[in-house]
Amino acid sequence: MATEIYTQYLSLVAAQSFDFSLLKVLTLGISAITGIFIGILINYFADVLPANRRLAYPMCTNCDQPYNFKTYLLFKKCPNCGQKRSLRTYIVLFAAAACSVLLRFFPFYNLGYWETLPILLFLGVIIVIDIEHHIVLIQTSLVGFILLIIYGSLMHGFSKALYGGLAGLAVTLGFFVLGIVFTKFLGKLRGKSVNQVAFGLGDVFAGVFLGFFAGWPAIIGGIIAGILAFSAYSLVFLVVLISSKRYRAFANPQPFTPFLILGVIAVFYF
Ligand SMILES: [Zn+2]
Repeated sequence: MATEIYTQYLSLVAAQSFDFSLLKVLTLGISAITGIFIGILINYFADVLPANRRLAYPMCTNCDQPYNFKTYLLFKKCPNCGQKRSLRTYIVLFAAAACSVLLRFFPFYNLGYWETLPILLFLGVIIVIDIEHHIVLIQTSLVGFILLIIYGSLMHGFSKALYGGLAGLAVTLGFFVLGIVFTKFLGKLRGKSVNQVAFGLGDVFAGVFLGFFAGWPAIIGGIIAGILAFSAYSLVFLVVLISSKRYRAFANPQPFTPFLILGVIAVFYF
């Protein structure tokens, strides 16, 4: 009897998976296209925000002439100087499409697929701008404070989200101050002042909005995971620099916020 029911159950499952397979393919296709659309938006914000600090016409990085809408959206060469679109443009499109499809298999926390997309867009913009310009803009941070306190409140309740933000502020502000002290000390040691700080104010902003997003106490785990990933990356980077004898380049600070974002996302999934 039991085996009979089990066989019936199996055939039902098989029938269901067969019925839904077409729908699944369609869903994944739509997810990939939606991801490409998100990627276009990430590219646009990353192209115009660092230079303009507001929404503007995207310009060619080579000749500073504005693209027209069609040329920009079709990823064509600059009509004025023939400059090709950056490799980043295509990496972002591919990565956004991949993330969008993966979200169908691994939903984010208790959020639905469509609810997760604004976060994918926002964090994508933060990551690309920080990697390219080593900066987290005040303008994007303000958007982040509002967007992620709303999401944090929906996910964990308002007070947990708020405490998460305050904890993120406390920890990253601590690092910020330590960074300044360390840089001053390093400057004295070398007998000249060092202008670039290892840990910027933008990373503190990111600590706050990611704290809202992760909530208390998950933000602490996210920061620890972010620091571990950053340290591992820095170590590999240092080894590569030493072996290629370009050791001096290590004086340039590496962007930390993308690792903080990765750390927070990792905490949600593990
Ligand atoms: Zn051009």
